[in-house]
Amino acid sequence: MTYLRLALPTPLRRSFDYLPPADLSAEQVQQLQPGLRIQVPFGPRQLIGVLLELSEHSDIAEHKLKPAIAVLDQHSLISPHILALCQWASNYYQYSVGEVLSNALPTLMRKQAELPSYSETRWRLSSKGKGLPEGALKRAPKQALALQLLQQQGDIGLAELTSAELNRSHIKALVDKGLAQAFSSEASTAQHPVLKQASLTLNQQQQLAVSSINPEAGYQCCLLEGITGSGKTEVYLQLIAKCLKLGKQALVLIPEIGLTPQTLARFQRRFNCNIVILHSGLTDRERAIAWQQARKQQAAIVMGTRSAIYTDMPALGMIIIDEEHDSSFKQQEGFRYSARDIGIKRAFDLNIPIVLGSATPSLETLHNAESGRYQHLQLTQRATGASIPPLQLIDTRNSPLQHGFSKEVLTAIHSEIHSGNQVLVFINRRGFAPTLMCNNCGHVAQCQHCDARLTVHYRQRQLRCHHCDSLWPLPSHCLECNSHELDFRGIGTERSEQTLQQLFPGTEVIRIDRDTTSRKNAMQDMVDEVHKGEPCILVGTQMLAKGHHFPDVTLVVILDADGGLFSADFRGPEKMGQLLIQVAGRAGREAKAGQVMIQTLQPEHPFLLSLVNNNYKLFAQQLLRERKLLGLPPYGHLAIIRADHHNLAEAEQLLQALRQHSEQGQTSQAQCLGPLPAPMTKKAGRFRAQLILQADTRPLLHQRLQHIVAIAEQHPLAKKVRWSVDVDPADM
Ligand code: ADP
Ligand code: ZN
Ligand code: ZN
Repeated sequence: MTYLRLALPTPLRRSFDYLPPADLSAEQVQQLQPGLRIQVPFGPRQLIGVLLELSEHSDIAEHKLKPAIAVLDQHSLISPHILALCQWASNYYQYSVGEVLSNALPTLMRKQAELPSYSETRWRLSSKGKGLPEGALKRAPKQALALQLLQQQGDIGLAELTSAELNRSHIKALVDKGLAQAFSSEASTAQHPVLKQASLTLNQQQQLAVSSINPEAGYQCCLLEGITGSGKTEVYLQLIAKCLKLGKQALVLIPEIGLTPQTLARFQRRFNCNIVILHSGLTDRERAIAWQQARKQQAAIVMGTRSAIYTDMPALGMIIIDEEHDSSFKQQEGFRYSARDIGIKRAFDLNIPIVLGSATPSLETLHNAESGRYQHLQLTQRATGASIPPLQLIDTRNSPLQHGFSKEVLTAIHSEIHSGNQVLVFINRRGFAPTLMCNNCGHVAQCQHCDARLTVHYRQRQLRCHHCDSLWPLPSHCLECNSHELDFRGIGTERSEQTLQQLFPGTEVIRIDRDTTSRKNAMQDMVDEVHKGEPCILVGTQMLAKGHHFPDVTLVVILDADGGLFSADFRGPEKMGQLLIQVAGRAGREAKAGQVMIQTLQPEHPFLLSLVNNNYKLFAQQLLRERKLLGLPPYGHLAIIRADHHNLAEAEQLLQALRQHSEQGQTSQAQCLGPLPAPMTKKAGRFRAQLILQADTRPLLHQRLQHIVAIAEQHPLAKKVRWSVDVDPADM
């Protein structure tokens, strides 16, 4: 008997055996390929699973197995490589393989649907059009340009039109004149020549980087450490060109949806090929189409955020992870995977190079590069010749602040605006003020569902919790003592915006944070506004820090650098340092020189001092020494078992039981800490506790982890306490 071994979208960490559908012959069953979608009964429901393998034996007695209902696809939709990658991830992150596949594949694939296929309208010359000489249609220049494109390239699609600043109406005019005709094309396969625009001449360091990475030389993992504006993107572009010339595909991961339009535009200007994007802003249909294009090699480049790492690309020749240190690459809920680490595994399996690029590499990556596991390539100069702006600490201990701004900072802003430049003010807190306090009794407005203060959103007259998204109307009097003496304490982006508007009337103040960019295209509209180059003040959160290129910004102000220095999370200082350098990197990127002012109450803190000396590396080495002493990553390996319940004791009880059972009769070399209440114990009405596993090596960590997970899956308390596993946690 042949059994079907399936991955099913359930939280259970195992595969499921079924009998083949009754209507299939034995021969047909033998031909079923892994990766096919198969519909099966599951309790009272029906589920769509993915065939992992055919097996000649099952641990379950045959009479207990049910037959599958139907095989949904003729051909497998998932390559064996992606299937194997998902199985590896399932094991590494201790997460159900069915759920891993659900995360990895477009939503439509989880349904019974046929996947939409992709075809685009393209145009070519008609026989009448072919008769025209070069340079015809002079009196209609746009049509002449469209004609010229057709004469040069044979056929063109919307992408080619757009990049020549033409639109459908221009080509339609040619069609109406009988000079061109439309046709539907499934494949806009890589076109020749690969480049649409000449590459820049590389400087020596860039040259070395490009020549060190070879899509034909097999697996290599390279850290491309380049200061902000050093031309990392140009290196990516030239590496991708090498790939395309070999007929291979490239996968580029970027941290933020907000960055896709500008990065995509830059890639489209350079390459003559179809580039698809994959991010959470797409509809299910768009996602499925992009996936199909990648899978059928109709797209040569895939650019996307975290989950794009699973895109099936049969001719994948290189993976690039831009801003590899960025925390968005680690999914923080459900299937808690790191797209960077999955990327490295994928490159290894496919025997292709992977490039990790950053101005501020994560400590893990830096450690791997310095110990020789990764190749280390460095770009130490700004590519445009612009100098790196000096960083200046502004000691705010004894100087009175005006709504969060020191006198030096205000003078500097005034002077830059006056000279026609742009200023960027960074503050990592949205809303008007982080605290609402009664001056009469000292009462502070707290979220009822979380251990957190409520943030004042003044314009909407609301108090909001940034942890559970609950909101209340802004009270006019204290809820404890009825006093009207309520005080807004602290500064958020909304308040800074207001202050700056008052202090600099006539200068545009543009606020960029989650609240002002929620509308579709809002971010792009604001970025376009800034690119007009008029003097303005940008105020915003870390959304502003990442990747944006604002050529007219000459002054960057960081209102408060101290948050990360004393964070409970061991990664706090690392994240603070990365953010600071990234924000500072927005200053003086082109012809105009820049400066960076950082307000702090800790001007003598060694971390800040090494950062200010523009020495991320020195800073990173300080942190690495600390981590080594404490056995924290990258020197030790961590996993967290989290549990939450309406009652803290229940959550802790489950974790306690897991710890005890896993210690019985075992001498494990992985240490177990806890159960401890999580740093924000109460969140969204649930109490959270955690168990921390720490080990010197991954095998030791995984051994203990697997043991604990196996116990948890059987434990009666686990039915009512919600629990989850986080391997290589980004925060704890
Ligand atoms: P990064 O990705 O490291 O921030 P970019 O690749 O965006 O840097 O380059 C920063 C600026 O320098 C861009 O305007 C880019 O066009 C320019 N640039 C990059 N490489 C070169 C080069 N070799 N010659 C001239 N300009 C360059
Ligand atoms: Zn009060
Ligand atoms: Zn809350």
